[in-house]
Amino acid sequence: MLDPGGPELGDDCLALCGERNNRFVERLRAEEEEKRQEEAGAAYRREPPRIGVLAIQGDYAAHAIALEETGAEPCEIRKPEELASIDALVLPGGESTTMLKFLKLRFFEALEEFCGTHPVFGTCAGTILLAREVRNPPQRSLGLLDAVVERNAYGRQIDSTILTAETTLPGGPLEMVFIRAPRIAEVGPGVEVLARRDGFPALVRQGNLMAATFHPELSSDRRVHRLFVGIAAAARSQ
Ligand code: GLN
Repeated sequence: MLDPGGPELGDDCLALCGERNNRFVERLRAEEEEKRQEEAGAAYRREPPRIGVLAIQGDYAAHAIALEETGAEPCEIRKPEELASIDALVLPGGESTTMLKFLKLRFFEALEEFCGTHPVFGTCAGTILLAREVRNPPQRSLGLLDAVVERNAYGRQIDSTILTAETTLPGGPLEMVFIRAPRIAEVGPGVEVLARRDGFPALVRQGNLMAATFHPELSSDRRVHRLFVGIAAAARSQ
């Protein structure tokens, strides 16, 4: 109860209470998320998910390090038969046209089959490979992510940039490293947008598929990889 003779609560004070409440709710959410991550972490430590990184071209080595730091067991995939030994797959950034050139028909078909039935995370060129439709110019893709992706939508290599943007991932804004990045121009209704660049989706999830138009493996923040490793661990225990 307020003391009628006591000091009046001014706007400043109320704003402060609101701010305090927000901080309290934020802290509760962060604690909850931490607990969930700890539980997931304990599950990986018992048996870390084995996550392949397509190692034909591009920055697959940086993904392997990020996966290791997140508690997964990474392994490089260079042949279609190696897909049989992994729980999930990362399609790294690089040059999608070069990757396609080296993906002979048998490997492409094996990838289609694997990515249609397992957790997959595409970053940048990997997102282009996963998309339902590729523009600028049109090219072959796995067609699994319900999205239209425009290649090199922000210009040339020199127009590459690092931005920080809001994300629905707990823990505040997210650093995003864009290198000759594509743009996700459209997504279907089953695609959840986790972060945006200039209003366009930059990090998305469609069930067990994740895709980013940037390079989370090049930032020190491991939230994006942690989410994917969590998806891989959950899918394996189903
Ligand atoms: N520009 C590349 C492509 O179209 C993607 C760039 C990247 O993966 N960093 O494949």
